[in-house]
Amino acid sequence: MKTTDRAPARRARAGEVRLEGQPVSPGVAIGYAAIAHEPAAPAVDITRRDCDPAHERTRLHDAVSRSVAQLVRLHERLSLLPEDGQVEIGSLLEVYRRMLGPSRLRRGIEVRLDQGMVAEAAVMQETEALAGFMLAPPGRPAPEGEDAVAARRRAGEFREIGRRLIRNLSGTPYRSFSALPDGAILVAEQIRPADAALIDPSRIAAVVTEEGGSTGHTAILLRALGVPAVLAAHGLLAQLGRRTRLVVNGTTGQITIRPTTRTAAAARVEVAAYARERQTLGRLRRLPARLSSGEVLTLQANLEIPAELPMIAQSGAAGIGLLRSEFLFMNAETVPDEVQQEAVYQPMITAMAGDPVTIRVVDWGSEKNSDALARAGIGDGGDINPALGIRGIRLLLQHRALLETQFAAILRAARAGPVRVMLPLVSSVGELRAAREIYARVGRRLRRKGVDIPDPLPPLGVMIETPAAALMADVMAQEADFFAIGTNDLTMYTLAADRAATDVATLYDPFHPAVLQLVRMTADAALRQRRPVSICGEMASDPQAVPLLVGLGLRSFSMHASAVPRVKRAIRAVSMDDCRRMASRALEAVDGQEVSAMLATYAATMHPSTDE
Ligand code: PEP
Ligand code: MG
Repeated sequence: MKTTDRAPARRARAGEVRLEGQPVSPGVAIGYAAIAHEPAAPAVDITRRDCDPAHERTRLHDAVSRSVAQLVRLHERLSLLPEDGQVEIGSLLEVYRRMLGPSRLRRGIEVRLDQGMVAEAAVMQETEALAGFMLAPPGRPAPEGEDAVAARRRAGEFREIGRRLIRNLSGTPYRSFSALPDGAILVAEQIRPADAALIDPSRIAAVVTEEGGSTGHTAILLRALGVPAVLAAHGLLAQLGRRTRLVVNGTTGQITIRPTTRTAAAARVEVAAYARERQTLGRLRRLPARLSSGEVLTLQANLEIPAELPMIAQSGAAGIGLLRSEFLFMNAETVPDEVQQEAVYQPMITAMAGDPVTIRVVDWGSEKNSDALARAGIGDGGDINPALGIRGIRLLLQHRALLETQFAAILRAARAGPVRVMLPLVSSVGELRAAREIYARVGRRLRRKGVDIPDPLPPLGVMIETPAAALMADVMAQEADFFAIGTNDLTMYTLAADRAATDVATLYDPFHPAVLQLVRMTADAALRQRRPVSICGEMASDPQAVPLLVGLGLRSFSMHASAVPRVKRAIRAVSMDDCRRMASRALEAVDGQEVSAMLATYAATMHPSTDE
């Protein structure tokens, strides 16, 4: 990146101007714009076919080594970043590192080198081919909705790693933002995820770009870094002159160019209010999740990738309520074996230092997919309607070896601390029985081999994600050791509205009284049978929803670690009576909109309390 504060081609106009972009990271900042242009990419000759493959392989090998070293250096910088940033950037670096390892990408590049291509061209063509495959998989319909977002992100990852390799092959350096003045507002046509990883949030007041969108890696990274940011602010660069002052509102997406004294003063008030809010949430970490009437609730974290661990430890969460083990299979070349899986679970359990870890066995199928499992012929995606096909526990009972391996790995790792094992997408008690039989058999086998595993075996529970499981919760509770309500899927199956499809997004409403009835039935059944019950769908991370869920009978919540402080604040502001009132009104509502409106009114009248 080349940084400059010189005027662009078009002369800037005088006076305050407002512009709208996409708000991607909340917060308000005021400062001078520093424009960072990206240096041109080196030219690549894609026509050559006369190169020496051995020589090009050596060049590729060196470029890979340099790229890995750069990623390691970026990783070392992680500890300097806010914890949310560590998580996002850490996981992205992990993806890049895997791509540079013995991956499909590497194999594809090497095949092209064998055809006599120059390394730069081989990298460029292979990364483009893989990106294209992600965006338009041959023989399959183009991804839509959330799938399309994920596909664009994955395509971006391939292109990003390709650019890094080409820069290293041609010796074109990356520039850092270290030359930017402290407190500057970074303005660029585009910020790539790897550039975002170099941003020091203590020095950059905000980021604004002309391109980009709210769901890409860059946006996620900027949010994680806590840097106010607005992307897709078209036409901004043309408005900037020498030392142009800006007010950037990352919450609303508004950018004010050359603010008047009055606008600047109002912005300063907002900057201070936002800083106070962050401080308050920070203090909440150490306080209990106690209702104003005294009852203490349990807040745990959902974990999707290992890089989230440090954040969970610092969030104030009391353990992991949902460890989605899919990450082990998602970017893997082969299905991980017992030893490999144990090596992943064990340090996580140790890191939670005695707080429980609930590991969900792999929930493959529907909108989730795994190259490793597909290659092993498991879950070929042939279902006409994948959400209603072979997924979750159904798939595992068809491929028992996979379930046995995972049970065994978890039982071995359970020496490190308290563990619970959870089954996804259960719709009948028979599935639980079949899984428990396998669980017990695996336990006996390990004991026979002299492996030290807990006695009795760790609790085996089920996710309540289908209306069938909720309606049969009393029967289920007699055989399950615990319940975790997965409202993401429960909402989808109750309302027959795909959780990933945009065209039914308005129908997909976890506040629909039908969903709430099922949540209450499940909580009641668990109470009657004295089984622990928690909720781990997205709803559990909504501060407005949690008091309602308390009223429906829930006392344990699992959510993304970043949501814990806000949920705690909401909990500490309400009494059990408030919660029960909300629940009974919600259950009488005619639809989800009525419930949402009621919750918003309650939230507006609450007074958050953080004192202790
Ligand atoms: C759920 O369905 O609510 C859940 C937590 O599982 P996932 O989102 O992983 O399907
Ligand atoms: Mg689910």
